[in-house]
Amino acid sequence: MNVIWAAATHQGRVRQNNEDAVHPAHSGSSSTPAVLMVADGMGGHVGGEVASRLAVEAAAGDHSDASQRMRAANQAIRDEIERQPGLRGMGTTLTLVEFEPSGLLRFGHIGDSRAYLLRDGEMVMLTSDHTVVAEYVRSGSISEEEAAVHPQRSMLSRALGVAVQVRPDIFEVAAAPGDRVLLCSDGVSSMLSDSEIFDRLKRGTAEEAAWGLVEDANRAGGLDNITALVLDLVETA
Ligand code: MG
Repeated sequence: MNVIWAAATHQGRVRQNNEDAVHPAHSGSSSTPAVLMVADGMGGHVGGEVASRLAVEAAAGDHSDASQRMRAANQAIRDEIERQPGLRGMGTTLTLVEFEPSGLLRFGHIGDSRAYLLRDGEMVMLTSDHTVVAEYVRSGSISEEEAAVHPQRSMLSRALGVAVQVRPDIFEVAAAPGDRVLLCSDGVSSMLSDSEIFDRLKRGTAEEAAWGLVEDANRAGGLDNITALVLDLVETA
């Protein structure tokens, strides 16, 4: 199987800089193993930008599996804080997928960026948000509706850079030809409902879907940095 991807990122309409990172930075395709990812940095001053960039650079290296990529990303951020204590408090989300030509997709995920799978005209969310509020919802203490407007809805319960131990979610999906996968930052998923994301994702090329999501999120307010990485899994010719 081949993977064709489109990478779109934009600072949005409010933020002065873009603390999201996407890897690869440009659209492309591959018939050999590849790793694709979205990171959304946090931390005042330049911290967020530094953390997300360090995470994708470290995770893109030569590693045996998704867990090791996550650990390398965490360590890279912690090493940088050691060198520059002024960056203490920086961290990042990281949602990545390793593509294998067999069609196996291995995911690693921490934070509130998301992965969605579009298959046979239906879209499912593959990841869970690691936010304090999403955990309240899972434990039944508040509703989805309350969570959507909760003042602490973007507070992460898990992230890279904040602790020595990393607890990513690791899972696999066997891709079928025609599958489309979206990795996105919360600048997409907090501005658009799942049905709005689905409307964009179900049509057009990967490039049109990725930039269309950026356009829609900006039209809805563009309150945060916006990143969409769309992967199409296609039969090898
Ligand atoms: Mg964000």
